[in-house]
Formats: sequence, C-alpha cells, structure tokens
Amino acid sequence: MTDKYDKPLNIDRYAVLGNPIAHSKSPQIHAAFAKQTGQPINYEAILAPIDGFAASIKNLIAQGYKGANVTVPFKFEAFNLCDELTERATSAGAVNTLSFNQNKIIGDNTDGVGLARDLTLNYSYALKGARILLLGAGGAAQGVMLPLINAEPASITIANRNLEKAQFMIQKIAAQHAVCNLAVSNYENLQSKFDVIINATSIGLSDTILPISNTIFAKNCLAYDMMYGRETPFMAKARSTGAQVADGLGMLVEQAAEAFYVWRGVRPETAPVIKMMSTY
Ligand code: NDP
Repeated sequence: MTDKYDKPLNIDRYAVLGNPIAHSKSPQIHAAFAKQTGQPINYEAILAPIDGFAASIKNLIAQGYKGANVTVPFKFEAFNLCDELTERATSAGAVNTLSFNQNKIIGDNTDGVGLARDLTLNYSYALKGARILLLGAGGAAQGVMLPLINAEPASITIANRNLEKAQFMIQKIAAQHAVCNLAVSNYENLQSKFDVIINATSIGLSDTILPISNTIFAKNCLAYDMMYGRETPFMAKARSTGAQVADGLGMLVEQAAEAFYVWRGVRPETAPVIKMMSTY
C-alpha cells in the first residue's frame, strides 16, 4: 500500500538533504540500522536546490516525514529554521539532525559525538594533551568543537580560508566554555607540528589541494579526513609524511547511530555497520 506520493504507508519516513547528495551513504547505513534493530523506517537521499532548502523541508513535513539529516551546505540554514534546539546544536551553531514533531522542527547536532566516538572507541585515540589542528570552520567543524574541547587537548588551532569565520568560531566557544589554548590561522602560515589534524573542509569533494605544509604533521600524527569513500588529496599528503590516516566513515556511522537514537530511542550497534560499509 502506498500514499498519494507513492510512498509506503505505515512506515516512518526520513531523509538526508544536501547538495550534492549522490555520494551519500546515509541511506545504506540507516537501512542497516533498521534491519538490525527491527525498526520499520524508510530513509532516502534528497537533492535540495541550493536556494530551496527551507521549501524542501516544508515539503517533507507536509508529506508526513518524521525527521531528516542535513549535510553540505545546509547545516547553518537548518539551524536557523528550527523552532527548538538541543544544547549541542546551540553550542555548535549548526544542525545535522531534524525531528518533525507536531508542526515543530527540533534541531540537533550529532557530528561532534560521532567524531569523538570514532576517535576514542574505534581508533582508541586519546586526545588528552594532543595538539589538534582543525582544518575548516563550516558546520562540521563547529559541530565537533565542544567534544574536542571536552577531551582536554593541549591546544586547538583552527585554520580556514575565510579567517573571520574561524575567529568567530573561537570567540563563540571561548565565551561559552572553559577552554584549552585556542588559535586561528590561514593554511599557508601554519608552521608548528600537530599530533592530530582533522580535515573538516568540503574540499575533499573535489581534487583541490589545501595549501598546508608537509612539515606540520608530527611524528605519529593522526590525520583524519571527515570525507569518506575516496582517498582525498589531504589523506595522500598525510600518508606521504608517515602519518596514520583515517577517513570519516566511522564518524558517519557514529553520527548516524546517534541520529537514529534521537528519532527512534534505540541505539544500533555501529561496529558491524562500519565493517559492512567499508566493503562498499
Ligand atoms: P560547510 O559547507 O559548512 O563548510 C565547508 C568548509 O570547507 C568551510 O570551512 C570552507 O571554507 C571549506 N572549503 C570549501 N571549499 C574550499 C576550498 N576550495 N578551499 C578551502 N576551503 C574550502 O560543510 P560542512 O562543514 O557541513 O562539511 C565539511 C566536510 O565534512 C564535507 O566534506 C562533509 O561531507 C564532511 N562531513 C563528514 C561527516 C562524517 O560523518 N564523516 C559529518 C559532517 C561533515 P570557507 O569558510 O573559507 O568557505
């Protein structure tokens, strides 16, 4: 049985919206969670027009969808669209998980917890005392700041093409939380060494290379690219310096598991899904 939109009846519907979206693995991940937990959901990827994000969300609500994930480049727009925000969404200033509840849009951010779980549980990497470099100051970077700070690193440097955005980011977080050493830089001026370098730019979607020096990767550096599904120029550069390299697949599965928990109240096991997705 289907409704007037030709969608299955009696199954709660969710989607991920982005532009571009064809590369998204979220539909396979949520299908695996649904199967594993016995939760009957339908989850699809939707390309939202660059100037039509709000209209796309209204359309989903009108069709009875229960929630949505939000990806590049709509996380700030999603934040502004919400009627209510969770604490971690407020802290991030960006939203990747929306719940539609009695005509209200509730915004959450599961990126931060996703990265923290991937680094600490899946990679067993202790961030305490580490010199962290975060590349990028977009929605994903903002979403991970609080969990990074909570891990008590020695310092966090944020490098971004648009330096004002990075400055705004650290001013905001410093005003809200007791923090470690924070600094901003553009890519070209980075000189000191870092123990953990996280690429949170969307540059991995293209073949453009970030203008960072090979000398900033400390011995035993963990180079983490939030991008997944391909070896990015950042990962190749890091590998050439001898760094340990990780992509964002684990983060993707972990942030999706948290969103699934927000929507369904059931926490799926992530390890088998990460294993399954890494063979795609
Ligand atoms: P946003 O669009 O909010 O931010 C994009 C960031 O990339 C900004 O810092 C922007 O810099 C920078 N950037 C874009 N193009 C260039 C360029 N040509 N040169 C230098 N910098 C550039 O995206 P998100 O923060 O939402 O996502 C960023 C990445 O993280 C994406 O690849 C996304 O797929 C990935 N991601 C992965 C997740 C996972 O679970 N694995 C979760 C969330 C995101 P500027 O401010 O100067 O424009």
